[in-house]
Amino acid sequence: MVTLDGKLVSAKIRKEIMVLSQAFTQTQGRPPGLGVILVGEDPASQVYVGSKLKACVEVGFYSLAERLPANASLAQIKTCVAAFNANPLIDGILVQLPLPAAIAAAEVIQEISPEKDADALTFVSGGRLINQTAKVRPCTPAGVIEILKHYKVPLVGQDVVVVGRSQIVGRPMGLLLLEEDATVTYCHSKSLHLKEHLLRADVVVVAAGRPQFFGREDFKKGATIVDVGIHRRAEGLCGDVRFAELVGHAYAATPVPGGVGPMTIAMLLKNTLTLAQARATQRVN
Ligand code: NAD
Repeated sequence: MVTLDGKLVSAKIRKEIMVLSQAFTQTQGRPPGLGVILVGEDPASQVYVGSKLKACVEVGFYSLAERLPANASLAQIKTCVAAFNANPLIDGILVQLPLPAAIAAAEVIQEISPEKDADALTFVSGGRLINQTAKVRPCTPAGVIEILKHYKVPLVGQDVVVVGRSQIVGRPMGLLLLEEDATVTYCHSKSLHLKEHLLRADVVVVAAGRPQFFGREDFKKGATIVDVGIHRRAEGLCGDVRFAELVGHAYAATPVPGGVGPMTIAMLLKNTLTLAQARATQRVN
């Protein structure tokens, strides 16, 4: 079985971004900039934000993190977003999800200027995705496509099942797979024939958020499995899929950790660079 190595592929992408970032800095007199908003003390979110800021430093980006307490009001968070919208040094804005339960995440996300929408989650970015005019794509699904392309996993005409229909992963994942000419089936918690769909699929993208839920018997022999799930356990991180069981059965699969996670960060950097380049062009025109 081929291990789809997200660390390796993301390192390659980050190197390419570093070169482009240097060129941008030379021509624009400033580096691409990412603004990150973190609300509350969720340990996993703190780790993710830390990794994203470290990745910015490595590729030569400017970054700014705003950390707000868990009891921050919607108005306070919106003020933070507005400050990043107005900051000329910031090209991409990321609100780390999930937000505390009391805050309506959608209301915060929609405050992000579409031209700085680094995770492509605003209504405008979603509309552009559907209209096939997107400049940037949601980071996690975009990372899944990149890793599949790197390993030349065929997608054109293939039966691809996406397990999950969330706003940030499952739903956009299906649209990105359609862009690659795959035959896409969405499954979710109400799907009556999940197993039948899975056993037919050439490629499965699992984003169910169920620790170690899927195993060898759920997939067709020779299928490719991408595991988006991330769960923290005492013994370490795990995904939605029992990876070890796939050896000798699947054609290829992503491990957790070291699969989709690093790809998500690489795509955040890529989107930020793309938005920076677009803003620079607009200023010239
Ligand atoms: P979510 O809870 O919002 O959505 C889960 C989806 O899975 C829902 O649409 C639900 O209908 C479906 N589902 C749940 N149980 C199912 C079952 N038994 N059978 C079929 N479908 C089922 O979660 P999300 O935000 O989409 O995240 C999914 C997972 O991906 C989580 O583990 C999350 O931590 C992880 N994640 C990873 C990254 C990354 O960078 N690797 C990024 C975002 C999310």
